[in-house]
Amino acid sequence: MPATVVWFRNDLRLGDHAALSHAAERGAVVPAFVWAPAEEGEWAPGGAHRWWLHESLGALDASLRKKGSRLVLRQGGSLDALKEICQVTGADRVVWQTRVAPHLRRRDEQVRAGLEEAGIEVRPFAGRILHDPARIQTGAGGPYKVYTPFWKKFQDQVDVGAPLGVPRLGETRAPETWPESRPLGALGLTPQAQDGVDWAGAMRDEWTPGEAGALDRLDTFLAESLVDYPEGRNVPAARDTSMLSPHLHWGEVSPRAVWDRVQAWVSNGATRADADTFLSEIAWREFSYHVLHHFPRTPTEPLKAKYTAMPWRSSPGDFEAWQRGQTGFPLVDAGMRQLWAIGWMHNRVRMVVASFLTKDLLIPWQDGARWFWDTLCGGDLANNTMGWQWAAGCGADAQPFFRIFNPVSQSRTHDPDGAYVRRWVPELAALPTKHLHAPWEAPADVLAEAGVTLGETYPAPIVDHADARARALDALKAVNA
Ligand code: FAD
Repeated sequence: MPATVVWFRNDLRLGDHAALSHAAERGAVVPAFVWAPAEEGEWAPGGAHRWWLHESLGALDASLRKKGSRLVLRQGGSLDALKEICQVTGADRVVWQTRVAPHLRRRDEQVRAGLEEAGIEVRPFAGRILHDPARIQTGAGGPYKVYTPFWKKFQDQVDVGAPLGVPRLGETRAPETWPESRPLGALGLTPQAQDGVDWAGAMRDEWTPGEAGALDRLDTFLAESLVDYPEGRNVPAARDTSMLSPHLHWGEVSPRAVWDRVQAWVSNGATRADADTFLSEIAWREFSYHVLHHFPRTPTEPLKAKYTAMPWRSSPGDFEAWQRGQTGFPLVDAGMRQLWAIGWMHNRVRMVVASFLTKDLLIPWQDGARWFWDTLCGGDLANNTMGWQWAAGCGADAQPFFRIFNPVSQSRTHDPDGAYVRRWVPELAALPTKHLHAPWEAPADVLAEAGVTLGETYPAPIVDHADARARALDALKAVNA
């Protein structure tokens, strides 16, 4: 019976996994994961990623064991590890799901060449996204840089199809010899192993990494929030978004399975419009990957080249205040603290904190993107790059740089009763809602009664928004010169 190694990366699931299904149809299956952060260079998994990965690998191994299989863990160079696993098991083929990030495509090509040189066949399978970026083109034959026509073309051309089931594994699909596996704990992915501090407590409370947790999150969202999504997705306190981003990033659920389950709900309580609003966000994910595929330098360089002329500031103090949620702007601080605590932030607040960093503080978007990369459980090179370039005005279909969010009016509009700010900035919780969004404007007696002393219990604002706005617009002149 031929044996196939399935090289898992960020596709940590059994359902709708074309490479795994192919291997199981063919014969013996050897599921393998290689921890090789050096191969991912500057985009190696960040701190929150590593915590998630640890949990998700454990969940994948447990699911495989329930089916009579197991996950072989290795550490070091991917090529050497895969070759060795093939040698021990007699596998003559390695399969994987293709990735889109440019540095990982390059790495995969090198691994493929090395395996083929050793006489091992390689088969990559699609599945990370729903469209083939090379096949969706503008009328002129190029890549899309604007979302709406991309989404329209996507709807016209892409047949999403039904997801694959979980393949049969078990005794009949086991290799004759199981290769050795590193213990999961030895990979050093947990916070204690990384820096000796257990900072993941709130993340553990919030999330259940792994395929079962992903499907559970999806089903709960569809049952409880899909109908509220069109409105609720703009209310950070409402928890009306799916919170699927880390699960999708790690491939614990495929976008095709999400698509499929959403359709099922249209006949089960939700309207077509509710579903389409949600699916159009999944389509933003597709668009992000489309742009990353065609413009591989965008994780570090603006898509609109003229923005390299932006006279950014360097201010480690301001940057640190932003990272720690100590800017004195309650909505910004709430978002940054939510990010630090649970490795996720609501989309509306992401837009506000990103605008604040790049415009009010005039600090490069790349610095913000790297902080998100380190702190988001679902930091995703395509979506993160898209989000930051959108906010900084230099990307595909971006918000123009001159549109500068006012962090106070954003707070009043999207957190009208202050529930979100009170949850994440508890030192302001006793302020009346009227003064919660801009505490520096509150009368002294109101502050005193709420136990707030600006500059002591909560920071005074680190910039004056009107002055900061003027400074940003002035800086923009260098770009447009
Ligand atoms: P939902 O609203 O439930 O949407 C469902 C899914 O659609 C998301 O999980 C995501 O996969 C996709 N999606 C939704 N909005 C977007 C969007 N604007 N762009 C691309 N895909 C989208 N998303 C990431 O997955 N990883 C990131 O690292 C990331 N960084 C961002 C940085 C900035 C500055 C901004 C403004 C946005 C970023 N986003 C990122 C996009 C978006 O904020 C998140 O996908 C979303 O908030 C995740 O929450 P959710 O799963 O509840 O989303």
